[in-house]
Amino acid sequence: MTKTLKDFDTVCKPDWCPGCGNFGIQIAIKQALANLNLEPHDVAMVSGIGCSSKMPHWVDTYGLHTLHGRAVPPASGIKLVNPRLTVIINSGDGDGYGIGVGHLVHTMRRNIDMTYMVHNNMVYGLTKGQTTPTSAKGYKSPSTPFGAIEEPMNPIALALTMGATFVARGYAGDVPHLTKLIEEAVKHKGFSLIDTFQPCVTFNKINTYAFFVQNVYKLEADSAYDKSNWNMAMEKAHQTDKLPIGIFYQVQKPTYEEQEPGMANVSATKLDISNIDITKAMERYM
Ligand code: SF4
Repeated sequence: MTKTLKDFDTVCKPDWCPGCGNFGIQIAIKQALANLNLEPHDVAMVSGIGCSSKMPHWVDTYGLHTLHGRAVPPASGIKLVNPRLTVIINSGDGDGYGIGVGHLVHTMRRNIDMTYMVHNNMVYGLTKGQTTPTSAKGYKSPSTPFGAIEEPMNPIALALTMGATFVARGYAGDVPHLTKLIEEAVKHKGFSLIDTFQPCVTFNKINTYAFFVQNVYKLEADSAYDKSNWNMAMEKAHQTDKLPIGIFYQVQKPTYEEQEPGMANVSATKLDISNIDITKAMERYM
C-alpha cells in the first residue's frame, strides 16, 4: 500500500517556535520515507541535543535522543548490529559541527551506510542564540557581543576532504527539493551528509527565509555540473556570492559494513544466541 506522511505521525506535536525551519525538514523526512515506501520499523532516527535533535520524538520510527554531539556512535552501532535498518541522524550545527565533529569526520572516512542531516541554522537555538561553528565572521550574539572573530567552518568542504561519498546541501524552505535529496541520500550505499539551511526565526535575524530565497540556487540547474567530479564539488563548496543547494558530490565506494570481516553476510540480530551463557561476564559487574 502506498505510504503517506501520516504513516510517520506521532501523537505528540512539535514544540518548535512557529515558523521554525525544522517544520520543513520534518515534512521532508516524512515525505521521503513515504516515497521510499519504508515502514516505521524499517527506520532508526538518532539525534544529539538541540532544537533539531527533538526530531526522533516527532517522526514515528525507532528513535534515540542521545547526548550533545554524541549521535554518531550509537547510530553507527545500530547500523553495524542491524544493517537492514535505514539509519538517519538529525543534528544541529552546534551539535554536529561543534562538540560532535570528531565523531563526524571519522564516520565520513569509514563510509558507514547512514544519512546524517545537519539542521544548519548558524546559531545555538535551544540555548538562546549563541554563535556556532557556522556563524558568519562578525556575527553578534550573547556569546560574541562584539562579533564573532573566527571564520566559519565549511561543512561541504570538510565532508569532501574527509572522504564522504555523498555530500549535499538542502534548504528547509524548499521541501520538495529537500525531500528528493533525502530520498537520494537514503538510497545511497555509504555515508551521506545533507547540510540543510534551516532558518531559526527566533534568534538568527540574518539567515532568514528572505535571505535564502535571494541567495540559494540549485546545482542541477547547471547542466555542465558533474557531481562525480571532486574538484568541481570543492569549487562549488567555496562559492559565497550565491549558495548552491543539491548534490555536490556522489561516488560509490565499499562501505565499512561490506569490508568488516566479522559482518560478512551476517546481521548480529539474526545470530542464534539461545546457547550463549553471559553469567560469567555479568559477574564482573556485580
Ligand atoms: Fe527553531 Fe530557533 Fe525556535 Fe529552535 S529557537 S525552535 S531553531 S526557531
